Amino acid sequence: MSGRTAAGGAETLRAAADDLAHHDVVLVTLDSLRFDTAAEAKVPHLDALGPLRRACSYGSFTLPSHAAIFGGFLPNVTEEPQWDFYSREQRQLWRLSRARQQAVPRTSTLLRGDTIVEGFAAAGYRTVGAGGVRWFSSGHFPALFDTFHYWGPTGDSSDKFAERRRGDFALDHVEKLAGEVAGAERAFLFVNAAETHAPYTRGTGDAYDAETQRVVRAWSGGWNGGEVVPSTAAARQDMTRLREAQRIALEDVDRKLGLLFEALPRPAVAVVCADHGEAFGEDGWWGHNQPVPEVMQVPMWIGVVPGRGCQTAVT
Ligand SMILES: [Zn+2]
Repeated sequence: MSGRTAAGGAETLRAAADDLAHHDVVLVTLDSLRFDTAAEAKVPHLDALGPLRRACSYGSFTLPSHAAIFGGFLPNVTEEPQWDFYSREQRQLWRLSRARQQAVPRTSTLLRGDTIVEGFAAAGYRTVGAGGVRWFSSGHFPALFDTFHYWGPTGDSSDKFAERRRGDFALDHVEKLAGEVAGAERAFLFVNAAETHAPYTRGTGDAYDAETQRVVRAWSGGWNGGEVVPSTAAARQDMTRLREAQRIALEDVDRKLGLLFEALPRPAVAVVCADHGEAFGEDGWWGHNQPVPEVMQVPMWIGVVPGRGCQTAVT
């Protein structure tokens, strides 16, 4: 799909807008990815979806952001130009009948239920989800889906930044996820990608990763959602390193997304966005939770992926 032209992509988007209800849907949240990190990264598979857009999240941490997203409210587009079927005027790809009953615009799909996940299920979609941060380890969000997988930290370890290895992330399991999508006529696939969340790792355990882990641990002793860091030269250097580590993690995520998009059995509308951003020392903050610009502004891509097909469903 990397060879697809921009014009071809626009035509595909228009076709999808006319026929949105008949496409599979893939929704990926890149946890904690801030906008300018996305803008600086080399992400050919995300670029192929369409232009990177700046949007504003409805939440400064995972829980409220995903509550809004599952409630039908993707991060809010704040700049021009806009997509054919997502703009400042048309801010919902999916509208819940519970929220508003009047007729929906041509490019918005009306779903019936308390969340879009339940709405897709009621519309005949198989709903498959996978998460990587603790909000998805149990509780309300996983229970929404027909099938949900959690690949992330377990137990009550006090070390919230436990090192991760390759294979520990949801996007390390694209064949399994695509296989579960292939077993249904239509499907809604949700993935929460944790690579871009602290400790910003690809899971390689190499020297770069090891040094990043050391820095993360050095600053996370009193972690309470957003750390206060002093404006010293050493702190600024460490924050710069963590921001760079998030970019490197994103580029690895882009590689995995390419594998996922190719493994899908059918064309799908793909929405990729961050749930919230991350501060790296601005105004003395590291992390998220605090509603500062670096946390509230998020990247977003929307497009259509053609899919190549899974020959065999993986169980
Ligand atoms: Zn999050």
